[in-house]
Amino acid sequence: MVHVDLTAPPCRFCAAPLEHVFADLGMSPVANDNVPLERASAMEPFFPLCALVCSRCFLVQLAPYETPKPVFRDDYAYFSSYSTSWLEHSRRYTEQMIERLGLDASSQVIELASNDGYLLQYFQQAGIPVLGIEPTANTAQVAIDKGIPTLVEFWGVQTARTVAAGTQADLLLGNNVLAHVPDIDDFVGGMKLALKPGGVITLEFPHLLKLLELNQWDTIYHEHYSYLSFATAGRVLEANGLRLFDVQELPTHGGSLRIFACHSEDEREPSAAAGEMLERELAAGLEDVRTYLDYGERVVADKRQVVSMLFELKAAGHSIAGYGAPAKGNTLLNYCGVGRDVLDFTCDANPHKQGSLLPGTHVPILAPDAIAQRRPDVVLILPWNIKDEVMQQLSYVREWGGRFAARSPELRLLR
Ligand SMILES: [Zn+2]
Repeated sequence: MVHVDLTAPPCRFCAAPLEHVFADLGMSPVANDNVPLERASAMEPFFPLCALVCSRCFLVQLAPYETPKPVFRDDYAYFSSYSTSWLEHSRRYTEQMIERLGLDASSQVIELASNDGYLLQYFQQAGIPVLGIEPTANTAQVAIDKGIPTLVEFWGVQTARTVAAGTQADLLLGNNVLAHVPDIDDFVGGMKLALKPGGVITLEFPHLLKLLELNQWDTIYHEHYSYLSFATAGRVLEANGLRLFDVQELPTHGGSLRIFACHSEDEREPSAAAGEMLERELAAGLEDVRTYLDYGERVVADKRQVVSMLFELKAAGHSIAGYGAPAKGNTLLNYCGVGRDVLDFTCDANPHKQGSLLPGTHVPILAPDAIAQRRPDVVLILPWNIKDEVMQQLSYVREWGGRFAARSPELRLLR
C-alpha cells in the first residue's frame, strides 16, 4: 500500500504544525524561470504554489516544495541600479538615516542583500564606512568594482559570527530580503550578533495587511517565502533578542513597511506609530486565524473576474498585449490559465528577458517597441505597482485608441 504523508509541515518560525491554507494557487513554474526559445518543446518543471498560515504566530508562508536547483541564479540577476525610482528611494533613505542616527566617519553601516551597491554608495559618498553582504556573485562584483566592500555570502548566524568578529553595525539594514529567506529565524538571529549595542536595524518588506486588503495574491511566488505583518515581524525579532520601536509606511511594492528595531535591552521608547500599527492590524483581524481562512474564497472570485474580463475583451475582437515580465505576472497568468490564447506577447525593458518565453504560458517576451509596431487594443500591465509610470511611458497607445488594463485591486480598464 502506498503511504501518503499528510502530516502538517512545521511553521518556518515557531514550528507549530501548519494546518491552515491561506491561498492555494495550484501548480506553477518558478517565476523568472523564463524559457529560451530552443527549450520551448522541452518538459518544464511545475511546483505547488500554496501559502499557509500559522495559527500560533500568524506567519503566512509558502508550503515546503521541492527545490531541484538554487532559486538565486546568476543568469537572471537583478541589478537594483537599473531602476531610477528605486535609486531615488534609496538616496532619500540614506539622507534620513544619516540625520536621524547622526552617522559619521566613526559609524558602520552594514546592508544585507546589498545587490550592486545601489544604496551603500550614498552612505559611502557621505564618508560613512560601509559593508555589503550579497550572495549573488556577479551583482556583488559590480559593487566591489565600484569600491564598495562586499562579502559574497548568504546571511545567517554563521556569516554574522565572521562579520561580528571584525565589526558591528550602528545601522544594519535589509530591503526586500527578510521575506525572501527560507530560514527567517536564522537570518534574524544573525542580525542580533552583528548589531552594535545601541545600534539600529531597519527592514523593508511588503505589508501583509495590503496583500489582504488589496487582493495582492499575485505577489505570492516561489522565491517569496514569508508574508509579514508588523506584529509577526515583531515576534520573530523578539525571539532573537531584538524588538521593534518604530515603523513607516512606504508606497513601494504596492504598500511596504519600513520597520525599526534595536536590542531588547535598549532603552528607546516605542513610537506612537508603532503602537498605532499594532492596533490597526488587530482591528483588521490579523491576529485571528479566521481572517486568513476567508482569503482563499476571495482569490478564487478574483480569478473568475480576471478570466471573464479578458475573455470578454477577446470575444469583442480586441487584441491584448502584456507589459512586463515580473514574478507577479507569472503567478497571475499561470493561476488564471491565461496564455497565448489571450496575450499575443508581453514586453520587458530588461534585455536579458527579451527573446525568451514566459514560464508555463510560453507568451513571448519582446522589446517594448513591439507595442508601437503591433498596436494592441489593450495593454495589460502586469507590474500593477508601477502602472502610473508605465501608462505615462506608453501614453502613445492612446493614439490608436488603445487602452490600459491592470489589477487595482480587481482587473479594470484604466483611463
Ligand atoms: Zn508559527
